[in-house]
Amino acid sequence: MDEEAAPKRDKNGPKFHCLPHSTQGSARMGTRKKVHTFVRVKPTDDFAHEMIKYGHDNKSIDIHLKKDTRRGVVNNQQTDWSFKLDGVLHNASQDLVYETVAKDVVAQALDGYNGTIMCYGQTGAGKTYTMTGTTENYKHRGILPRALQQGETNRIIASHTMNKNSSRSHCIFTIYVEAHSRTLSDEKYITSKINLVDLAGSERLGKSGSEGRVLKEATYINKSLSFLEQAIIALGDQKREHIPFRQCKLTHALKDSLGGNCNMVLLTNIYGEAAQLEETLSSLRFASRMKLVTTEPAINEKYDAERMVKNLEKELALLKQELAIHDSLANRTLVNYDPMDEIQIAEINSQVRRYLEGTLDEIDIINLRQIQEVFNQFRVVLSQQEQEVESALRRKYTLIDKNDFAAISAVQKAGLVDVDGHLVGEPDGQGFGLGVTPFSAKPGKKSKSKKTFKEQLSSSARKEGASSPVSGKELDVSTSKTQLTPSSKEGDVKDMTIRERETSSIEPLPSDSPKEELRPPRPSTPPPKPVAFEDFKNERGSEINRIFKENKSILNERRKRASETTQRINAIKREMDVTKEALNFQKSLREKQGEYENKGLMIIDEEEFLLILKLKDLKKQYRTEYQDLRDLRAEIQYCQHLVDQCRHRLLTEFDIWYNESFFIPEDLQVALKPGGSIRPGMVPVSRIMSLGEDAEDKFSQLQQVLLPEGPDSVAFYNAKVKTEQKHNYLKTMMGLQQAHRK
Ligand code: ADP
Ligand code: MG
Repeated sequence: MDEEAAPKRDKNGPKFHCLPHSTQGSARMGTRKKVHTFVRVKPTDDFAHEMIKYGHDNKSIDIHLKKDTRRGVVNNQQTDWSFKLDGVLHNASQDLVYETVAKDVVAQALDGYNGTIMCYGQTGAGKTYTMTGTTENYKHRGILPRALQQGETNRIIASHTMNKNSSRSHCIFTIYVEAHSRTLSDEKYITSKINLVDLAGSERLGKSGSEGRVLKEATYINKSLSFLEQAIIALGDQKREHIPFRQCKLTHALKDSLGGNCNMVLLTNIYGEAAQLEETLSSLRFASRMKLVTTEPAINEKYDAERMVKNLEKELALLKQELAIHDSLANRTLVNYDPMDEIQIAEINSQVRRYLEGTLDEIDIINLRQIQEVFNQFRVVLSQQEQEVESALRRKYTLIDKNDFAAISAVQKAGLVDVDGHLVGEPDGQGFGLGVTPFSAKPGKKSKSKKTFKEQLSSSARKEGASSPVSGKELDVSTSKTQLTPSSKEGDVKDMTIRERETSSIEPLPSDSPKEELRPPRPSTPPPKPVAFEDFKNERGSEINRIFKENKSILNERRKRASETTQRINAIKREMDVTKEALNFQKSLREKQGEYENKGLMIIDEEEFLLILKLKDLKKQYRTEYQDLRDLRAEIQYCQHLVDQCRHRLLTEFDIWYNESFFIPEDLQVALKPGGSIRPGMVPVSRIMSLGEDAEDKFSQLQQVLLPEGPDSVAFYNAKVKTEQKHNYLKTMMGLQQAHRK
């Protein structure tokens, strides 16, 4: 302990005061903290005891001015001031000053908190002494070498302490701290910096007698100090958003060291002499303003990427081992958890394709990586198929941008698209929206679950081709802003349109629809009905006509068989008559020759016996044939009924067709278009089916009315007629389906 370490005491009590550690060292993130302000009084033999008094707790200084002592300079306005501070250091050793002012700030810097210690005061008050100390005496070394020492960086002390700094310039020392954990695995590390600021003298100009270049410098220095003050005032005002850091080099350099997330300490160096009281007052005022500034210290934590990678690699290896153990315990075959290679990915792609096609029922789950790859490949396959569909559409159609009005109007002029963007002949704008309408929602049969995706696609494509080309409104593949119109390589719109019509089931429009060119234009006077009937039988009525003809041929065949049977019956009858005659002749001959009786039994000769057998056989034949004939007659009656019904339908349909084709006004025909409420021409499937039902009803009536005397034949009839009906129905349906596909 030297003379400084054992401070003198005066009547004001202790000469120094240490801040309790609980206050100074409790910096935590998120808690606001005031700037700590200390005053160091430069030792002097001429201490102004009457003017400068310390509080009992050594946390305040009271200044008292006698009016007469500073005549003219201080008027009678104010004579007493009281300054509250965090500590007053009077006759304090360098050791104690460091302990009080700097030690905790440096300690916290090593934990990641930025810190700033500033010395402020008039020239000669001991700022440099406090901050740097004297080089000659180790005990007199200042805050900077001690801070470096605390941070275990002794090597550079000498060079820094050798530096002499002008009292007219500011001097900022910055110590950068980067602290890594001694544990290698810890990837976290902290960075911080300690700013030690030895400010230029704060004394007012004129007093120090500066002149010339020195005056200019002093003005400049004072200016920067006043900017510092402004910044500090702004920092002290919680409502201020903007802090004027850019006004000078000093504030700019201290930008992130004033306030902010720093631990901040201001040490005000003052003289204790009466002659310097005015500057002392000024310095203390600065200190009290500084006290209003609050900061929010926070740790600057960073991550060491290299260490982090190493740690993660270690953990990965460990987890793989864990998985291997887990797998072997669960009796699983060795599962590879490494990233997939190209071959494995290709295999998954093929699995996904087979799954979509329906040739693979399920995809086995192996591990998470594989599941993710399966999903990836679903996306890949999906986008490929989208592209395939789109390019298929592009091969068939020309895509026109919906916003390309010039192109659209050109197509409209060519008559391909109406004003709404629908294609001509398109029924009700019901386009085929690929990718919009789910397959199950397609009209007609519900798509069977067993149907593969490919089939669905192709059947959808067929539908698309079979109906009208896609309407611009509904097309939404990946080209949402385009619409489709049939492409024309030859540039011949009509030819192309006809080709389009040929593959379509759309009924022709009555006006100048292109289909009109395939059939003769509507004549001004209707053709005679017999002529038109022939046309009708070849066109719309072809199906019902075919059925009609088929039924007629069955009827004719039955008639032929009936007549053959009748002829056979007549022949049998004739022979029966002949046989009967011969038998009668034999009988009379026997009677003439005298009858032979033997014990009551009549004896006949062989000839007569044979005739009797023959007659018996003929009668049997006759009955069979007669039965057949009756059956045939019933069948003929039934077939006749069918033929009559067909003829009636044929004529009815013909009348509809005839009127529609030659008499119904064109606007009415809209209703007759496909999708409209009236469907002329084709016999609806339901009606063809009802034909069979009607016939069946008639037949059961027939059975009851016409065959009461031959009940044994009913079963035969039933089977026969039903077989024929079935045969006819199937043929009809197949014919109809073929007609639809065309
Ligand atoms: P400033 O940097 O504020 O202009 P200095 O630190 O240069 O003042 O101090 C001026 C003189 O006073 C120096 O010779 C210095 O050694 C001396 N001095 C200042 N403060 C003390 C102190 N607390 N104890 C002993 N000497 C001091
Ligand atoms: Mg100095």
